[in-house]
Amino acid sequence: MGGVFKKVFVLLDFSLRGNEKRKCGNAKGHQRYLFLYISSNFVSKIACKKIEANIYMVLLIIVIMAEAIKIGIVGLSGRMGQEIYGVLQGCREAIFVCGCSSTQGSMEQVFEKSDVVIDFSSPEAFFTACTFAKKYQKPLVSGTTGFSSQQEQQIKQISVDIVLVMAANMSFGVNLFFKFTKQMAQALKSYPQYDAEIIETHHINKKDAPSGTAITLGKKVAEGLGQNFEEVAKYGRNLSDGIKKQGEIGFSSIRSGGIIGEHTLIFASKDDRIELTHRAYNRTIFAQGAVDLVVRVFNTQNIANGLYEYSDFL
Ligand code: NAD
Repeated sequence: MGGVFKKVFVLLDFSLRGNEKRKCGNAKGHQRYLFLYISSNFVSKIACKKIEANIYMVLLIIVIMAEAIKIGIVGLSGRMGQEIYGVLQGCREAIFVCGCSSTQGSMEQVFEKSDVVIDFSSPEAFFTACTFAKKYQKPLVSGTTGFSSQQEQQIKQISVDIVLVMAANMSFGVNLFFKFTKQMAQALKSYPQYDAEIIETHHINKKDAPSGTAITLGKKVAEGLGQNFEEVAKYGRNLSDGIKKQGEIGFSSIRSGGIIGEHTLIFASKDDRIELTHRAYNRTIFAQGAVDLVVRVFNTQNIANGLYEYSDFL
């Protein structure tokens, strides 16, 4: 259906531009002009027709609904599910069609009715979602965190049969942070006097610790330094641990109040300290990032089954 509808959509949208209305002349209060163009780059105008505002609105709604990407949400009642639902209300490219949570809705229906499914739930629900993604061959974009390393291996195997995009953090700013972290670690590879620590702070209802974002930051540090992450990660410290080992990447988690999410990466030597910090002021950055990602995933031609990350679609 894409081609025809896309053109009409662009044309209707374009008809709102004052410039073009003036060119057509006689622009009056409630009327809109429908421009028809042969090509999508607006080169040739072949017709200009005056239509009533109400017809214009009906046409616009029909076209938007026919063209929009149908999104399903697993974890609809949750904090992130609700944010994504809100972002979709103001989105032209994608619309919400179906959702489920642990007590409401059917996950199978979510996959049946959607073009792409967004999951922000729990590791258990995520694995159920993967089985439906395989059954209905629908791409799954997941922001769920808190997987064990054994589950991460399982995820790699599952992704052979589906298009699976996973991002421990959906915000654009944090994904830049990931990129800079790897670059900084690469630059510090020949300076072993600097050691790495990661501190993350979240609200008291967060279930996993350290956060998925903190773990991804740690993996980027290890990649940049050429280390095996599993060997150098140190989660929490207690009295019996003694002094920090050479090359160790330490993680500290703070849980307090309603803090949305803060991450700090420290590279410190005896003489100085380099710090990178990201602070989320609201959940909309994750929800908007998730919706933008879904649109990019859906619009990617001939995408093969496999496991993808946010940066694959930047
Ligand atoms: P939440 O507890 O507020 O919501 C969880 C949702 O999942 C609820 O709607 C719940 O009913 C649903 N759910 C749980 N089990 C289910 C099941 N078996 N079937 C269907 N639905 C089920 O949590 P939240 O704050 O919205 O976060 C959800 C996940 O997303 C967590 O893992 C969190 O760490 C992660 N998260 C990721 C990002 C990111 O950018 N990637 C940002 C924030 C949160």
